[in-house]
Amino acid sequence: MCAGGWALNPFKRHRVMIHSFIQALRDLLGESHVLLGTDCAGFETDWRKRYQGKALAVALPHSTEQVAAIVALCAQYEVSIVPQGGHTGLVGGGTPNATGQQLVLNLTRLNRIRSIDPENLCITAEAGCILQTVQDAARAAGLHFPLSLAAEGSCTIGGNLATNAGGTQVLRFGNARDLCLGLEVVTPQGEIVQALKALRKDNTGYDLRHLYIGSEGTLGIITAATLKLSPQPAATVCALALCTSMQQCVDLLHFSRQNLHSTLTGFEVMNHTARRLVQQHFAQIAQPFRLSTQPQSDDWAVLIELSDEESQAHAEARLEALLSSALDRNLIDDAVLASSMAQVKNLWHLRESIPLAQAVEGLNIKHDIALPISQIAAFVEQMKVEIEQHCPGARLVTFGHLGDGNLHYNVQAPVGVAAAEFLTQFEPRINRLVYDAVTQRQGTISAEHGIGQLKRQELAQYANPVALSVMKKIKAALDPQGIMNPGRVLTND
Ligand code: FAD
Repeated sequence: MCAGGWALNPFKRHRVMIHSFIQALRDLLGESHVLLGTDCAGFETDWRKRYQGKALAVALPHSTEQVAAIVALCAQYEVSIVPQGGHTGLVGGGTPNATGQQLVLNLTRLNRIRSIDPENLCITAEAGCILQTVQDAARAAGLHFPLSLAAEGSCTIGGNLATNAGGTQVLRFGNARDLCLGLEVVTPQGEIVQALKALRKDNTGYDLRHLYIGSEGTLGIITAATLKLSPQPAATVCALALCTSMQQCVDLLHFSRQNLHSTLTGFEVMNHTARRLVQQHFAQIAQPFRLSTQPQSDDWAVLIELSDEESQAHAEARLEALLSSALDRNLIDDAVLASSMAQVKNLWHLRESIPLAQAVEGLNIKHDIALPISQIAAFVEQMKVEIEQHCPGARLVTFGHLGDGNLHYNVQAPVGVAAAEFLTQFEPRINRLVYDAVTQRQGTISAEHGIGQLKRQELAQYANPVALSVMKKIKAALDPQGIMNPGRVLTND
């Protein structure tokens, strides 16, 4: 369609083509589900406000067939597509670029729970279902969907799978990939791969599910998924412990694993600076441990969660015994056990408010890294020295899922320095320091947030060259026109 045959100059031809594309979209979805101009504003800026794009239009389909028809139309007109769910991603993957040429395909109207099968312990949900809606539907059926993250009130199942999201229960239940049994996907040609299987075993050729999970919308559009459920635990209890070093946190993790086995469902760390930021911006959130007046104090709070199959009393007794033995062994300096649901919620609120407090404080240099757990304490010590040498006064806001070896290792401007100026001056240098150290210690530059726009240069630099070349071949084979989320994950060269 976009090939020759137009008796117009290229500029006019382009405008006529775009006009005809938009008209075809409107015919397909109805006018109110194709947003144009200023109506697109809410879909053009990412959660962190780091990327500001301009969309050609925003399409809001309601069914898999509509998604397939939109993609076929885009292939015909060679319009590139940015799939978008809740737009809570932290690496700019769901934000259009600034050209005004990309179609945002937002999936939030594709939001039905198609079925729940308690005997087979699974749920089939459309891609635009909000994560919390899936958790609630599972709970209403007496079951548990364990994927859990601070953005669960607005992120979608499609986005969770496209980024292979992690969150706070990976330690026990795995990440989004581990929770997915089957997928329905629209290919870049507008065909539908119907593979919503609910099987625990299926060795029939290449497992395409694992290709699409974590591909960040660059290989196809996830329209529905069949997800694993678990029996609901009888009780969940939490405690907050205070450690004086990262090595102590690692030792406590080892001790907790040995004692709690699979009942250990969460193990989160928060450094002193992270908790101070929460205190500064959300003073209403209770802080069980008094914060030092020293800006870079070295203590760490550890949130431990235990899920028990027996009873609340049994769960509390087990966690209390763990904390008491840990105190005796000098693995912790202090601890509080949450004694009510309100206290449990407050502890999680403290942990989950760190990204929000950082967002209020201003842009920071974000790293979502994972390391072998045995390397984490040495990494933290090394970085503290090197970052202070390169940027005196920079604030290390370190928190995350230590149970998975995953730290959000963020570097905030020194007090009084403007965030934009700090990023311009220090981001490349600090990224280099952090990613070099992570790579030397056999870690990864992206544990759970993905690559998006933010880390595509780093992926090109740090990935194994053969692995990178295989990724490029897969992309070229599945999306030869390059219309699926171009410039995300892989660089365009
Ligand atoms: P979007 O942001 O809309 O999109 C993310 C990427 O997936 C984009 O590349 C987009 O193109 C693609 N995409 C979206 N939907 C589809 C689809 N249906 N088919 C194909 N591609 C698609 N992440 C974690 O892993 N763990 C955490 O603990 C965590 N905590 C967070 C806390 C906060 C406060 C915030 C704001 C974010 C957090 N995140 C976390 C990041 C984010 O919430 C997750 O990446 C989430 O999975 C993104 O879902 P979404 O629906 O918002 O996707």
